[in-house]
Parts: sequence; structure tokens; C-alpha cells
Amino acid sequence: MVNSMKKELRRAVIAGNWKMNKNRAEARALLEELVPMVKDADCGVIVCVPFTDLETALEALKGTNVAVGAQNCHWEASGAFTGEISAGMLAEMGVEYVIIGHSERRQYFGETDETVNRRVRAALDAGLKVILCVGETLAQREQGITGEVVGLQTKVALQGVSAGELKRIIIAYEPVWAIGTGRTATSAQACEVNHLIREVAAGLYSEEAAAALTIQYGGSMNAKNAEELLNEEDIDGGLIGGASLKAPDFTAIVKAASR
Ligand code: PEP
Repeated sequence: MVNSMKKELRRAVIAGNWKMNKNRAEARALLEELVPMVKDADCGVIVCVPFTDLETALEALKGTNVAVGAQNCHWEASGAFTGEISAGMLAEMGVEYVIIGHSERRQYFGETDETVNRRVRAALDAGLKVILCVGETLAQREQGITGEVVGLQTKVALQGVSAGELKRIIIAYEPVWAIGTGRTATSAQACEVNHLIREVAAGLYSEEAAAALTIQYGGSMNAKNAEELLNEEDIDGGLIGGASLKAPDFTAIVKAASR
């Protein structure tokens, strides 16, 4: 049993996933509003923006405590992959993080556990940090196979990832039925699965590596429910969709994670 009581050893990280929202002018305005509001945050703060906003975000966030992430990358370094962006291209721009395996990519763009693993490898090889998303569908939860599904997603995604590289990975547990639905997992449900992910990591690596792993919750986290979720021992931050598009809402979550 992994000792998750070492919560204080882990850095809480709040990451915004803007999805396909905000043109360049809107991105700049949101970031200019956000930066002073979160400047004293006692947790990691990341915004994962559309590819077309990366340059704007890098410029607006230079010298601040807010890091920039992308929302996907391809597994090959270059070549005939029309419409794709490589991990190396992101790293070369100065992007620090990339979300991989978001359920919307699994659901709408044919992402599989295997392609998630290839993208994770490519991102790590390019020097990026990864926010790796895992989570079960409602049907899977109702079938009672949440643990198996999330465990398998985690194991396959981390194939070929060393213990040293694990330090550059954040795992985000995002139950598919809670994303963008307004329906949040209870803090007990979220903590139970986060703990299970930590046990999987302990099995793959070591108890120390697992105890140091940042595991976020994502799925309709907002200013009202963040504190309760973030108080749980195994919830080390959040991946935030809708609420990351409004500076005051995102800031309230960042404040709840600052401890
Ligand atoms: C997400 O996109 O990762 C997410 C959690 O979205 P929302 O907060 O809107 O449910």
C-alpha cells in the first residue's frame, strides 16, 4: 500500500486546458487578466492553449510563474503527416508542457493507449513535460471496471518510460463522464482512483517514485468544488477545462491549491 500521506512532498499543479477556444487577441486579454491574479500562487500554474495561441502565450507569460503547454503532439519528429505538430517543434518554441491522451482525443480522433504511449515517448525525448490523461467512461464505471481501465491506460502509456523520466510526468485522472458535463466525481471517488493510479506507479517504479508523482483530478472542477477535491490526500491539483477560460474562476482554483 503506497503511503499517500506524503501529500506535502508533492507540488500541486493547476493546469488550464483551453481546448479549441480563444483567438490570439482573446488569449492575450485573458492572460493579461490572469497573470497578476495568480502571481503569488503557491502551486504550479500551467495554461495549455491551442497551437495558434502558443506564440502569444509564450510572449505574454515570459518571466511570470505561469507555464505554457500544448494540447497534443505527434509521435514522429517530422515527415509526411499533414496537419500534425511534432514534440520537437513545440520544444523549440519554448513550450514546456503537452497534454497527451485527453479523452476528447481518444473519443473523436482515434487515440489509443498505444498512440498515447508513442506520443508520451516523443514528448519526453524532445525534453517536454507531459500531462498524461487517463479515465473511464460512464459505461465502464457502471460495469465496475474503472480500476482495470485506468490501470491499463496508465501502464500502457508509461511503457518504456524510466523512473527518471517519470519526474517529468503529471497524471490527470479525468473520468470521461465528468468532463464538460457539470457532473463532478465526488472527492472520495476521485481520490480512490488517484490512489489506485499511485499504486500502479508504485508497482511499475517504486513507492518513492509513486509518492512523488503529481496526480491531478479533472472533470468539471470549478471555483466551488475545488477546495474539497484538492483537500484529498491523493489529489495533487487539477486539469481544468471550462473554468480555465475565466480568469477569476481559474484563480479561485489556483488559490484553493495553494498551501
Ligand atoms: C478537461 O478538458 O480536461 C476538463 C476537465 O474539462 P472541464 O473542466 O470543462 O470538465
